[in-house]
Amino acid sequence: MRCQKVDYTFPMPKVCLISSLAWFAYSGLLSADQGDTLLQVHFVDVGQGDAIWIQGPAGECSDNGLNIIIDGGPDTGKGNRLITYLETYKFVKDSVIDYAIITHPHDDHYPGMTDILKNYQVKTIIDSGFPADGVKFQKFLTAAKSEKVGNKPSTFIEMRKQPTYQLPDCTDLHISILFGDTDQAGLGSGNSRVNNASTVVRIEYKKFSFLFMGDLEGKDRADPADKLSMGEKALLSKVPAEKLRATVLKVGHHGSETSSTLSLIRAVQPDVIVIQSGRKAFSGTFLPDQSVIDRYKKERPGVTIVRTDEGDEQQGLDTTNDADGDDIAILTDGDSLRVRQARLSGSKRQWVTVKKLQK
Ligand SMILES: [Zn+2]
Repeated sequence: MRCQKVDYTFPMPKVCLISSLAWFAYSGLLSADQGDTLLQVHFVDVGQGDAIWIQGPAGECSDNGLNIIIDGGPDTGKGNRLITYLETYKFVKDSVIDYAIITHPHDDHYPGMTDILKNYQVKTIIDSGFPADGVKFQKFLTAAKSEKVGNKPSTFIEMRKQPTYQLPDCTDLHISILFGDTDQAGLGSGNSRVNNASTVVRIEYKKFSFLFMGDLEGKDRADPADKLSMGEKALLSKVPAEKLRATVLKVGHHGSETSSTLSLIRAVQPDVIVIQSGRKAFSGTFLPDQSVIDRYKKERPGVTIVRTDEGDEQQGLDTTNDADGDDIAILTDGDSLRVRQARLSGSKRQWVTVKKLQK
């Protein structure tokens, strides 16, 4: 267990140890997995939207482990479940976040990040650089560009302007940006175009790897699954299939039929897929599309599927209450991997191991 503090160079103070023990007692999440050697990836249930908190193993590019956020979810203020989650797990206010990545400027991905900037000290902010209108996004950009750690101005990256930008390599932890927004043709139009500005990130830690697709799309909704266009086509032509392979895939675009083409699934070959979605209706239908789930099951028999909208339909939830705590935590020491999901809420909340992988 690590202790979150602003200055990573100091040894862990006693007060921090106490808070760590309280963390275990409260969460019951990691009692079997104590130790700083874990890579933890938390997919926070924010309803329809993405919010991911990654903690790297200690000693990998950071004494206490890197902290990375990919997207902040749709809600701000008291309704921001990402902030609630971080606070629940004792990620105290003003702690340092090494990287905040906003995959693309859509309302289900970036708004919650404004609170992250307000509550924490973010060293590097990575935006797609896709030009987006709207007062809310401009406010976010202003906050991002004036962010500081202590008195030192943070780094603000726009992928479109710095297409070769990469995070530094660590010893066993390798974080790669595989795709960033580009002005190349063939990335769709309207909302699709914005989705195809998504920054795609891959993380490898020893024997396991994770691929985070943002909302990248691969075809029009009505096209067959063996069609390949837009973002997935651009990604597949840029990155060799072996570098796309991932144990865990954060499925693109909330499991929409516009993503997860056969070409992409066959390149990635995931053992576990994570779908971040909620109960927001899009032209009368909800994400994920059943056809996409079926596609993964057919292509990857035995694939483990975990969703942040777990049980939401059966419980009759809607957009006002679908961020009900179906959080997913994936933990790996590099040799084994556990997929855990939170079940039930309030005092009955507990973490269940859904899948264990050993390599
Ligand atoms: Zn989205």
